[in-house]
Amino acid sequence: MTRDATRELSAVATSLPDPLLRVRGATLEYRSRERVVRATHRVSFDVLPSDRYILLGPSGCGKSSLLKAVAGFVPVREGSIELDGKPVREPGPDRIVVFQEFDQLPPWKTVLQNVAFPLQVARKLSRKEAEERARHYLDKVGLSAFVQAYPHTLSGGMKQRVAIARALAMQPRILLMDEPFAALDALTRRRMQEELLALWEDAPFTLLFVTHSIDEALVVGNRVLLLSPHPGRVRAELDAHAFGLHSAGSPAFQAASRRIHDLLFDEPAVPHAAQAQVLARAAA
Ligand code: ADP
Ligand code: MG
Repeated sequence: MTRDATRELSAVATSLPDPLLRVRGATLEYRSRERVVRATHRVSFDVLPSDRYILLGPSGCGKSSLLKAVAGFVPVREGSIELDGKPVREPGPDRIVVFQEFDQLPPWKTVLQNVAFPLQVARKLSRKEAEERARHYLDKVGLSAFVQAYPHTLSGGMKQRVAIARALAMQPRILLMDEPFAALDALTRRRMQEELLALWEDAPFTLLFVTHSIDEALVVGNRVLLLSPHPGRVRAELDAHAFGLHSAGSPAFQAASRRIHDLLFDEPAVPHAAQAQVLARAAA
């Protein structure tokens, strides 16, 4: 490499912000008396501030396990997970998870109480402050008219909006989403993707988002980590910032989608050192 090129490279390296989340060689296992299930094998990735980082892979490849490990619900068997340079050991209000299930809201609380209550408990806000902040975020997700409603009176999409408002109101360091739109009909799902991106444009947050949908990964994410089938290993990391709702269905989008499909299912898993090459090839 020429000296100029070296200088250019190090300039790029120093201009990158420090990762907010650093996952290194994370192997996750579930152990029972009868057997050991390995969910992921030595997975490494970095999430930078304001990334919309996607974990993409087929069902059973350990995406949810990785998210739970970042959330502090599942310990790493080998490797490490650090947030802001500190090892993740337990759950905390700096990492909030939005799940796929519509029943993540306590049904005996109104929409407003659902969002405000965690702010009083975990963020130690007064009731008045908590309700003010809750109303602000409910307004952002378009639910101002439903603050006094109970969850069972809402559609699936509206329940997910409440869960998103509740999570954002907590102002976590990183928002964790596990297939949050997978149980919605196709039109609502697309609308929710749009709304999530609009929320991010309005006030960027750091997102770690799990999906098994290639299209959703390209639309929602700026970077995508591809995981191989069970146990999940890193196949490649892709730059998806060029794609969004506007490009869904375009020839470039379809080509990227096909390439990801091939990477996920046709090629053998690559060792860490070869990832850069796959990356370059996939991005080409
Ligand atoms: P994904 O979210 O990608 O579908 P998961 O992380 O849910 O994958 O699961 C990865 C693997 O770990 C699967 O083989 C699954 O059966 C196994 N697994 C997940 N949760 C548990 C658990 N609580 N106990 C035992 N095995 C589990
Ligand atoms: Mg899952």
